[in-house]
Amino acid sequence: MVDVSRRKSVALFIAFGGGLISVIFLLYVGWVVLSWRSGWLLALGVLLLLALIAGVTLNTFFLVREIRRNEQQDAFINAVTHELKTPVASIRLYLQTLQTRAIDENRRKEFYDVMLSDSDRLLDTIEQVLRTGRVGSSSRRPNFSSIDLNGVVEECVGRTRALYHISPEQVALNPGPPVTIRADPDEVRAALANLIDNAVKYSGKDPRVTVETARLNGNYVAVRVRDQGAGIPKTELKQIFKRFHRVPGISRIPGTGLGLYIVRSVAKRHGGRAWAESEGEGRGSTFTLQLPIAR
Ligand code: ADP
Repeated sequence: MVDVSRRKSVALFIAFGGGLISVIFLLYVGWVVLSWRSGWLLALGVLLLLALIAGVTLNTFFLVREIRRNEQQDAFINAVTHELKTPVASIRLYLQTLQTRAIDENRRKEFYDVMLSDSDRLLDTIEQVLRTGRVGSSSRRPNFSSIDLNGVVEECVGRTRALYHISPEQVALNPGPPVTIRADPDEVRAALANLIDNAVKYSGKDPRVTVETARLNGNYVAVRVRDQGAGIPKTELKQIFKRFHRVPGISRIPGTGLGLYIVRSVAKRHGGRAWAESEGEGRGSTFTLQLPIAR
């Protein structure tokens, strides 16, 4: 609903800007007809026309940008509030139950496990928000050191398998030849963890994910994360890397829309890039993180 009204106001401002430019242009044509004999008046008219068109175009551009920023802020508040509120509400409920009822030892252990995983989810969201601030700020430089990429990839794959309780067949690892990169280990780990977690998260009940590393033309190494899950519509392949952007219709799957923004920011900060490929909805996706090899 909010989205539709935002889109309407963006369209309205663009139409208004376009309308104003047309009016200015018509006035200019009248001006030319009236003063075509006087050269300097005509030149003055051209200058005024250019200044007016530039002014209206800039004004429309800034208005539309402000509307988009507001839209992003709303999306952020919605996504993050939901992601913060859900685990806290769940922990509270379990604590209340423990406080008011006699629970046997096994059930009690189950409750503790759920509360622990809820608090992990809470910490993950907070860490994701803090990291978004860090990787988006140009004043905070990465902490470069030489790292063995295959080692970090293996560590991230292991972490995802443990987190989602899944087997090595479900998240398979195909490491290429060993390669060393100059990078911030913490940032690279966060980027890879986001890609691998997403591949599992958007694959439904039986994920089939492969993670591989491969050298590209001697200067770069690529980490590819391939899944056979939900897939991504072609029109969304670039959008999903924007802050807070989530493909419409997947709101049942928890998330904040920050992960891929972190992936792309980390890639850029290291002189690399990140992109997504997919044949479309329901046909899986492949995400690639390309980073320069250390000299
Ligand atoms: P989040 O997963 O928290 O929503 P991300 O920034 O990691 O945020 O991803 C942005 C969006 O991109 C997701 O909401 C989802 O729509 C889409 N997406 C990311 N990874 C995948 C994937 N492996 N398969 C399908 N869709 C994906």
